[in-house]
Amino acid sequence: MLESVKPLEGKTALITGGSRGIGRAIARALAAQGADIAVVSSGNGQAAADVCRKIAGEYGVRTAHYICDVSDFEKTKETVGNVRSDFGGIGILVNCAGITRDGLILRMKEEDFDRVVDVNLKGAFNMIRHCSGIFLRQRGGCIINISSVVGLTGNAGQANYAASKAGLIGLTKAVARELAGRNIRCNAIAPGFIGTDMTEGIDTDRISASVPLGRIGCPEEVAQAAVYLAEAAYVTGTVLTVDGGLAM
Ligand code: NAP
Repeated sequence: MLESVKPLEGKTALITGGSRGIGRAIARALAAQGADIAVVSSGNGQAAADVCRKIAGEYGVRTAHYICDVSDFEKTKETVGNVRSDFGGIGILVNCAGITRDGLILRMKEEDFDRVVDVNLKGAFNMIRHCSGIFLRQRGGCIINISSVVGLTGNAGQANYAASKAGLIGLTKAVARELAGRNIRCNAIAPGFIGTDMTEGIDTDRISASVPLGRIGCPEEVAQAAVYLAEAAYVTGTVLTVDGGLAM
């Protein structure tokens, strides 16, 4: 019997923040569609190594992990170069690395504003900047930026985070317009409350009551949207909310 070809077979997906939470679920979901997976994370690499081992075992795709602080321009350049030479190319870039440093605006420290914007927004710029030359030479590519509903609606106590996530939406649309003529698509996903390390300790009952669908989401539900955007050849410059109706 002939084995069917999976939709993303032959493509390499580079996923920042792929060691945990939403990024890990996206890595798995793209691998299930046949993509080879490069996981980028900033920690000690153990979590990323585990993700890679499991995905390779489950789906038979190639995987590798890289330690890189996405806010570091030179380090991201080196990492993208390493991924390209290890895998022979990069077809999909998912910018999922993100942090929070919440606080009220009256008391927010300058370093907390800067760090959140550096990781969440400049990190995505760095990765796009270094991958775009590869996409141009390959005559195609797909960028998926993980924003947040907070970037659309704002949220008290998250001025830095909301600014970074709103910035990501502007970045997405500018890049989508700039590179559409070269067959490079760029889209954003705006998740609502998703159960991960980032949202550990939140009052789930209180949050769920404010969500029209009555619950917080799971990483796999965001990953479904990423698979859709990775495959949707006629979709660019869009922001897909995955939020149980929170931001409508
Ligand atoms: P998470 O579980 O805290 O995971 C964060 C990931 O980002 C980890 O893989 C972490 O790597 C990586 N990371 C952090 N700083 C980094 C840096 N400087 N360089 C490279 N990688 C870095 O978070 P999550 O909830 O899955 O969130 C993933 C993305 O979704 C974030 O952009 C977040 O803002 C966004 N989002 C989350 C929610 C939610 O409710 N959870 C809602 C909307 C949007 P290490 O393991 O090495 O630390």
